[in-house]
Amino acid sequence: MTARIIDGKAIAADVRGKVTDAVHRLLRDRGLVPGIAVVLVGQNPASKIYVRNKSNAVTAAGIRPFDQHLPATASEAELLDLIARLNADEKVNGILVQLPLPPQIDPQKIIAAIDPAKDVDGFHPLNAGRLAIGLPGLVPCTPVGCVMLAKTVHASLAGLDAVVLGRSNIVGKPVAQLLLAENATVTIAHSKTNDLPALCARADLLVAAIGRPEMVRGGWIKPGATVIDVGINRVAGEGGKSRIVGDVAYAEAAKVAGALTPVPGGVGPMTIACLLLNTLRATCAQNDLPAPNF
Ligand code: NAP
Repeated sequence: MTARIIDGKAIAADVRGKVTDAVHRLLRDRGLVPGIAVVLVGQNPASKIYVRNKSNAVTAAGIRPFDQHLPATASEAELLDLIARLNADEKVNGILVQLPLPPQIDPQKIIAAIDPAKDVDGFHPLNAGRLAIGLPGLVPCTPVGCVMLAKTVHASLAGLDAVVLGRSNIVGKPVAQLLLAENATVTIAHSKTNDLPALCARADLLVAAIGRPEMVRGGWIKPGATVIDVGINRVAGEGGKSRIVGDVAYAEAAKVAGALTPVPGGVGPMTIACLLLNTLRATCAQNDLPAPNF
């Protein structure tokens, strides 16, 4: 079998196009412009690239950016003060604090200080709780993107045996909650799980989010399964250069899986598209407008 490649770039472009159209309609019909504040503390090179990519996508979608940059020496109190001001600013509908934060700042304290209605990363305990008990709320972007990609292969996820590798609050747990809400039968695996290959071999839908380069081998995958590879791992490439690989051994998996996301070009582009979607959703909810239906 040769797997169908799930084109995350094209699917993300479609979502971004729909968000852009909806943003234009909001301005035309309601005079509203969604706004998002992306907050960067320090000079972490990877974070700077993520923030730049997010800001470019935000502007392209017609969303107003309120980017904030604090020095690496900023105190927790300074960041809390900035968040309080953004919470109170009516023009700011979404707030995202880029992680990781410098060691003097407790990320959980910062996440908990964000107004849950503006928490476009979906990391606030209130939003995590709402997701867990099946109430509407803001859901983390990467997990939403994973489920959208899976649904391009399966019209319904109901009854599928889904295995999620990884239990982080950012990816593994929320993706498992979303799959459960879609009526999949979900198993969450982690570093203490016994016999991962046998567990994965059961999965009709396998989501790998472990941050271990190419750990999932072709032989672990059930023939015909759908594989969503969340991993972004930088490894040594040819000529002293580095390259990005996922958590799944792509060439091996492509021979066994029914459908597979590439890295890069799979889940990654969906994360930013879903951030734009969350900003639109937050803006609609804050203005008592119906949620966008895509
Ligand atoms: P994380 O917080 O480090 O969590 C990794 C999870 O994988 C943990 O639950 C850990 O288990 C589990 N794990 C680690 N080694 C394992 C092993 N050998 N066997 C089984 N489970 C193992 O990572 P994360 O933030 O969830 O990110 C996961 C990957 O996704 C990373 O490569 C990250 O760069 C990528 N990512 C991509 C996007 C995107 O937009 N595409 C967004 C976010 C993250 P324990 O809980 O037992 O330690």
